[in-house]
Amino acid sequence: MSSIEEFIAGLPKAELHVHLEGSVEPETLLELARRHRSPLADGGGERVRELYATRDFGAFLQAFRAVCELLQTPEDYEFITYKALSRLAQQNVRYAEVTLAAGVVLWKGENLLNSFSGMEAGARRAQEDFGIRVKWIFDTVRQFGLESAEGVLREAVRLQDRGVVGLGIGGDEQRGAPELFRAVFDDARKQGLRLTAHAGETAGPVSVWGALDALGAERISHGFTAARDPRLVAHLAARQIPVDICLTSNVRTGCLPELATHPVRRYFNQGLLLSLNTDDPALFETYLNREYRLAHEVFGFSREELTRLAEASFRAAFLTPEEKESYLAAFRSPEGS
Ligand SMILES: [Zn+2]
Repeated sequence: MSSIEEFIAGLPKAELHVHLEGSVEPETLLELARRHRSPLADGGGERVRELYATRDFGAFLQAFRAVCELLQTPEDYEFITYKALSRLAQQNVRYAEVTLAAGVVLWKGENLLNSFSGMEAGARRAQEDFGIRVKWIFDTVRQFGLESAEGVLREAVRLQDRGVVGLGIGGDEQRGAPELFRAVFDDARKQGLRLTAHAGETAGPVSVWGALDALGAERISHGFTAARDPRLVAHLAARQIPVDICLTSNVRTGCLPELATHPVRRYFNQGLLLSLNTDDPALFETYLNREYRLAHEVFGFSREELTRLAEASFRAAFLTPEEKESYLAAFRSPEGS
């Protein structure tokens, strides 16, 4: 029998919750810092390594911000997109929904269309080289408020026919109640965008209810605090509302004291539709196959259960039923590919 590492590596996967900026590896950031003559390039990479040693939410946001500041030209976006997708392809990720903090791009006063053209070029090159496909989710930032969210929606709609599939919301869950963004998300739905929300990460179950009721979120990112509300867990299970699980992320941001306290096993046993994800793989020093291994080692997921999680990653995607079917067919072929 193959080792568990080989087994996991062989599983075709989708990654649905991965931030482009959080996928920038330290050496990639160092290259950008050199390109833009940033002081971060001093000390031969030491300052970059220090920046990436995130152990709480504040340090994580600081690192995320530093990456965003160094993304300035379409070439930068092309470079980081190709690198990120190459790494995903190494995990046997066939399809990814990659999130761009579009609210931050606009806040920086960048021409989002130019940045997106760079991302597109990187994605095209990665698809040619590795066969990986990508769609994009544009994230609004809660604490940036309503006007910023409206700007993000405008850009997402403008780029819908170029692979932007969804609107999401991230940032500080404590600042910016979902109700504030109801009209923007309503509008996005009418325009044909799919909806997702970071919720139940740094705030309690009420934030998840808000994401579902006020925003109409079709998918929940993190959602681990929902475990405190049995009615909410039952609701997520009954409606088969997918939850993106990000095990390492939840510990590295300090949101969970210990990995073993994560409700992933309980959620799975209660029938929730779960996918495993890295969130910000470079910042959290993880990669997707490692997340599957953690599910196996820490939560006792069997090979059969890991296969169900990999299948669920395609089922939970913002793909058409036909597209999902074409990916899921890989699980029925004898080679599993
Ligand atoms: Zn995230």
